[in-house]
Amino acid sequence: SPVIKSVKSTAEGLSVKWKRCTVPTGYLVYRKAEGEKEYTLIATIKGNTPKYTDKKVSSGKKYSYKIKQISGEYTSAYKEKGTTSTFIATVKNLIVSNSPKGVTLNWKVVKGAKGYSVWRKTGDKGKWKKIGTVKTKGGCVYNDKTTAYGKKNYYRVRAWKSSKVYGAYSKEAFLYSVNPNKPMVALTYDDGPYAPATNRILDTLEKYESRATFFVVGSRVDTYADCIRREASLGCEIANHTFSHPILTTCEPEVIKEEISKTDKLIKKYSGKDVRLVGAPGGAVSDKVRENVKHPLVNWSVDTLDWDHRTASKTVSSIKARAFDGAIILMHDLYLPTAAASEEAIPYLVSKGYQLVTVSEMLEAKGIVPQKGNLYTRG
Ligand code: ZN
Repeated sequence: SPVIKSVKSTAEGLSVKWKRCTVPTGYLVYRKAEGEKEYTLIATIKGNTPKYTDKKVSSGKKYSYKIKQISGEYTSAYKEKGTTSTFIATVKNLIVSNSPKGVTLNWKVVKGAKGYSVWRKTGDKGKWKKIGTVKTKGGCVYNDKTTAYGKKNYYRVRAWKSSKVYGAYSKEAFLYSVNPNKPMVALTYDDGPYAPATNRILDTLEKYESRATFFVVGSRVDTYADCIRREASLGCEIANHTFSHPILTTCEPEVIKEEISKTDKLIKKYSGKDVRLVGAPGGAVSDKVRENVKHPLVNWSVDTLDWDHRTASKTVSSIKARAFDGAIILMHDLYLPTAAASEEAIPYLVSKGYQLVTVSEMLEAKGIVPQKGNLYTRG
């Protein structure tokens, strides 16, 4: 009959191992949770694999296991094992954000945990590395000051009770790390998408591992859904520039609300992400607009007037002359001269040491938590 060798907490759950029997046709796994009187059959294993991982265990409870052998016509008696173990729950709600302290991770408390280990992976093909430990006294916060700035970084966290008892990894969360101590600029493009211009801008951003914020017009989103998907996949931010581009200060509250919510839904549909920011057409903001737009509002600190002169060289010189750390630079991905200007301005700004980041990334890195009803024009 099978004899249990060990019951251990692993990242996936409780792992039960037993001595392999000679030629069984399979095993039956029984479990009894703390406080229960009877063992319950939880798994039937075909063939001769003498191990099973019980993933349906909950935090902090003790469990016992018994294994039965099925051999041909008969079933052998239980071979009991008094071994019990505990399991720590998986960390939930891991949120990663850029901050003045580097990359900040926050998560929810796990009951019974003595501490947490923090893991990071750089790039889609990177390898996971343990980068730190947080004792419960330190709360559920970790500041990563060693992140690879400018890269896409993934994070995961798991709770532990001892060196042998720990929970499963949390869901991965990722972000593009922004160095809070290096200058940064947020390029913004309004009124798109328009594939012939938008794609050239995205090509350039991709080549220079940079990002921008696109304040899109909702009525164009279905037509240029591929642009939205690509913007999202490159880590760009997609913000709301209303559905039909009215001057919001002249609209009724109900119209303002509808212009925003319709566009929110379309952006979510193609990007998978919730909208965080709104740009009002023409930058026209009043108390009525602040009250009826459910997101923080963003205007600009540098207006290139690209929509007016439609001359690439003028857009480029305006950026070269006026860029500064924390600038929000306004352009429109509706015009080919703006695409041409971007092909020159993006490598120029990168060569001058600017990180090209999204508006949300810049606000986070500068320690600004944007609030509904407020208007932001720089980071
Ligand atoms: Zn506009």
